[in-house]
Amino acid sequence: MRFVVLPGDGIGPEISAATLEILQLLNVKLSLGLAFDTHEIGLACLKREGTTFPASVLEACRSADGIVLGPVSHSNYPSRSEGGINVSGELRIQLDLFANIRPCRSRKGLARWGQTSMDLVIVRENTEGFYSDRNMFWGVGEFMPTQDVALSIRKITKAGSHRIAKIAFELARARRKKVTAVHKANVIRVSEGLFLNEVRNVAEQFPDVLYEEQLVDSMAALLVRDAARFDVILTTNMFGDILSDEASELSGSLGLGGSANAGISHCMAQAQHGSAPDIAGWDKANPTSLILSAAMLLDWLASNRGIETFARAAKVVEQSLDSLLEVPEKRTADLGGPLGTKAFTKALCEEISRAI
Ligand code: NAD
Repeated sequence: MRFVVLPGDGIGPEISAATLEILQLLNVKLSLGLAFDTHEIGLACLKREGTTFPASVLEACRSADGIVLGPVSHSNYPSRSEGGINVSGELRIQLDLFANIRPCRSRKGLARWGQTSMDLVIVRENTEGFYSDRNMFWGVGEFMPTQDVALSIRKITKAGSHRIAKIAFELARARRKKVTAVHKANVIRVSEGLFLNEVRNVAEQFPDVLYEEQLVDSMAALLVRDAARFDVILTTNMFGDILSDEASELSGSLGLGGSANAGISHCMAQAQHGSAPDIAGWDKANPTSLILSAAMLLDWLASNRGIETFARAAKVVEQSLDSLLEVPEKRTADLGGPLGTKAFTKALCEEISRAI
C-alpha cells in the first residue's frame, strides 16, 4: 500500500509531519504494510518549479492507494496561468472525489455552547455547486463581461446529486437512520430544485431512513440551537463547507474535524480547516483534524479493500484521541491547553502504543 503525503502550506508541514508520525507508528505496531512518498506542493513548489502542483505529483496521487493532503494557502496563489493551481480542488476533480464526509461530535469537556451530545456527519457534494474554479469541463465558471460586472456560474447535475444522496442515505442506514437535506430551493429554484428532487427520489429507496429538509440559513441557526437533533446532513458543495466549519467549532475547535474526500477508487485525507497562516511555524496547530482524516482514509481502505487491520488502526486512533482530549493538560492551545503540535503528537503516540 502506497500513501502519498503532500504537506502543503502554512501549518500544513507541521500537521502533516504529526500525521505521518502516527501512520508510521500504526504501520509498525499493526504491520499495515504501508509505504510513504512525500511530495512538495504549494508555495515552496511554485518558487522551485513554477507551479504549485506539478503534473508528476498528480500522477503519483492517481496511482497511490491513499493520499494525505495538508491545507494549502490558495488565497495567496497567483492565477492558474502563472502556476497557481489549487491542489485541493484539482485533486477532487481529477480523481472524482465526489463525496466529502465530515463527521463531527462532542467530546467530554470540549463542546461549546452546550452542544454536549452532538454526533453528526455532513455529507457534502464535492465536485460541483458554487465552486466556479472547478465546476466546468474546460475553463472557469466565473468571468467579467464588462469591467464592472462579475458573473459566476453554479453547476448542479442530476447524476451528481443522485450519487451523493446515495452515499448519505447508506451512511444514515448504518447510523441513527436520519437524513436532513440542506438547500435553498425557495430562491435558487432551478439548481437547488434539481438537487432536492434527486435527493427525494433517492429517499424513496430508503423507507427505513427518516428524511427531512431544511433551508440552509435556518440550518445555521438550528446547529447552534441544538446540533444533537441531526444525524446525517446532506448538502451541496459550498453549504457543506460552511456548515462543517460551524459544526467543528461547536464541537470545540476547527482543529478537531476529520474529513475524507472519497470517490469510487480513490480516497484523500484532508483537514477540514485551512492553512492557518496566523499560527504557522509556531508549533501551535492542533493536528487532530488531519490525523482523524487519515484514520477515515484507513477506514475507507478497510471497507474498500476488505482489510480488517486497517479498520482496527482507524478505531485505535479515534479512541486514543478521545482519551487524550479528555485531559485538559493534554490539549493544544486552540482548546485552551498547554501542548504544542509536537508534544501533542508525542502524547498521542504514547496513548496509541498503550492501546495496541
Ligand atoms: P483557516 O481554517 O486556515 O483558519 C481559521 C482560524 O482557525 C484561524 O484562526 C486559525 O489559526 C484557526 N485554525 C485552523 N486550523 C487550526 C488548527 N489545526 N489548529 C489550531 N487552530 C486552527 O481559515 P482562513 O484563515 O480563512 O484561511 C487561510 C488559508 O487557508 C487561505 O489561503 C485559504 O484559501 C486556505 N484554505 C485552504 C483550505 C484547504 O486546503 N482545504 C481550506 C480552507 C482554507
